[in-house]
Amino acid sequence: MIVQELHAIQERCGYLPAAELRALSERINAPLHRLHEVASFFPHYRMRPPAAVEVQVCRDMSCHLRGSVGLRRNFEALANELGPSVVVQGVSCLGQCDCAPSAVTINDHVYWGLSDEELRNRVQAAAAREPLPHQHRDRAPAGWRIDPYEGKPRYDALRAFVKTPDPAALLKALEIAGLRGMGGAGFPTFRKWAAVRNEPGEVKYVICNADESEPGTFKDRELLRRTPYLVIEAMVLVGLVTGAKQGYIYVRHEYHDEIDALEDALKQARAENIIGPNVLGSGQSFMLEIFISPGGYIQGEESALLEAMEDRRGEPRNKPPFPVQQGLFNKPTVINNVETLAWVPAIALRGGAWYRDQGINGATGLRFVSISGDVNQPGAYEVPLGQTVRDLIFNTAGGVRGGQKLKAIATSGPSGGFLPVFIPVASLPEKFVKERLPAAAAGLDILDLKLDFNTMGALGAMLGAAFVVFGDRANMLEQALNCVEFFRNESCGKCVPCRLGSQKLVELIGAMLAGRCPRPQLELVNELTQTMTLTSICGLGQVAGNPIASVLKYFQQDVGK
Ligand code: SF4
Repeated sequence: MIVQELHAIQERCGYLPAAELRALSERINAPLHRLHEVASFFPHYRMRPPAAVEVQVCRDMSCHLRGSVGLRRNFEALANELGPSVVVQGVSCLGQCDCAPSAVTINDHVYWGLSDEELRNRVQAAAAREPLPHQHRDRAPAGWRIDPYEGKPRYDALRAFVKTPDPAALLKALEIAGLRGMGGAGFPTFRKWAAVRNEPGEVKYVICNADESEPGTFKDRELLRRTPYLVIEAMVLVGLVTGAKQGYIYVRHEYHDEIDALEDALKQARAENIIGPNVLGSGQSFMLEIFISPGGYIQGEESALLEAMEDRRGEPRNKPPFPVQQGLFNKPTVINNVETLAWVPAIALRGGAWYRDQGINGATGLRFVSISGDVNQPGAYEVPLGQTVRDLIFNTAGGVRGGQKLKAIATSGPSGGFLPVFIPVASLPEKFVKERLPAAAAGLDILDLKLDFNTMGALGAMLGAAFVVFGDRANMLEQALNCVEFFRNESCGKCVPCRLGSQKLVELIGAMLAGRCPRPQLELVNELTQTMTLTSICGLGQVAGNPIASVLKYFQQDVGK
């Protein structure tokens, strides 16, 4: 795989020297232009030697809200002191949103939650060519219900399946559980597995999408590091159910601790015959490897991820065909998110009804949510579906920080836009008002909103894994600009509406903020947003206008005259 070879060269040399690329081209018998085609697409690869000290400061949603602009200025001032060997730049979300605004990389070491002084010391150490320390997170079990093994992997679900294989029963359990894709799509898991199982052919694949890159999302990071064995066990089960014999865990390259945890768990699983040519003596083979992502938010889109794995530029494919029919190397492929897979062992052992009945307020199941922004206790939490926004913010996450009042929430990172504290009846879908509000209600108090797929669908809102809270000091127009800049930066450029539209939106919002956008031009924003939604190939372009559309709808006080 070209991508993994490039990754190895960059690890060794710090960039991709021309001589190394020529040598690789000869070794794998691939023309040099193919290597450049791939290397020039992904933000992780450097074609020139890096500066002696390269500092990258997260510029996205939660870090931006909590003041990463100021942090970057501090680094720039330090760079001025230390000279041109220190280069400071912005970087897309590093998945450390619970430690905002302090999420940075220094020479590819990821740091989070450090004080200004600690960060300054590290930059100075790097400038003096001293080795930088690694920062590590805890791997200890967190007492979650998702982990039937409480931190000690036993692979009981797989052992039981191998003893009395019953794929139909496992699919039924997943159906009863109502388990859905936890990466944001919400597609029923049993359907995806069944579709691949029913596809003809000997060669099939399983991929765990661990490329968690949506700003505000970091729950998969916690699951990968604390419970990597749940993901491994589920992937083997997918293999035994669907006939896939090869799996890949596609993980973002900045998740160093998580990659280490996965490697350790894979090593143990190989030693115990959990994966290998004869899984637990079943006579069935299942191989599993880690694929380190070359970077870029768009790689979380499943078909872009497949393109990268096939050594091409990571641009999303047109669909159909869907990956369940033609996925990796055009073979049927199950692609599941980390959390989706991690729920499977507990459901297999305890039954679908066990998972289903954990929901509250009429909803079913459990899920993980990453909550960050203006809350006192940001973090990744295991919560029941159906939990209200009130409960999540004030009981789970300790309330709004800094004495602020709640102003807005984002229930799916930047993708879903913002919701205000109160939505009048006139702005709600008619069906939602009829079926989900008391007869005399003037509108929806957002604190009463139940966080489950059906309620959010009825509201016309998205329920992702990133829940970001905004206090009343936030200017939502400025937050929308930050979100749309993120989409502009991460657009792969394949389709014109997304590539040009996202830049045009950035310009229009910038003009609004500067008070230079005449009212008639505001109409253009909605028109452009709709055009992008209708004509973009993938989800990025389809949702890029959501943040500003929601501000124009709900936060006119921040738009000005
Ligand atoms: Fe690429 Fe944007 Fe088109 Fe998606 S919508 S394929 S990110 S250009």
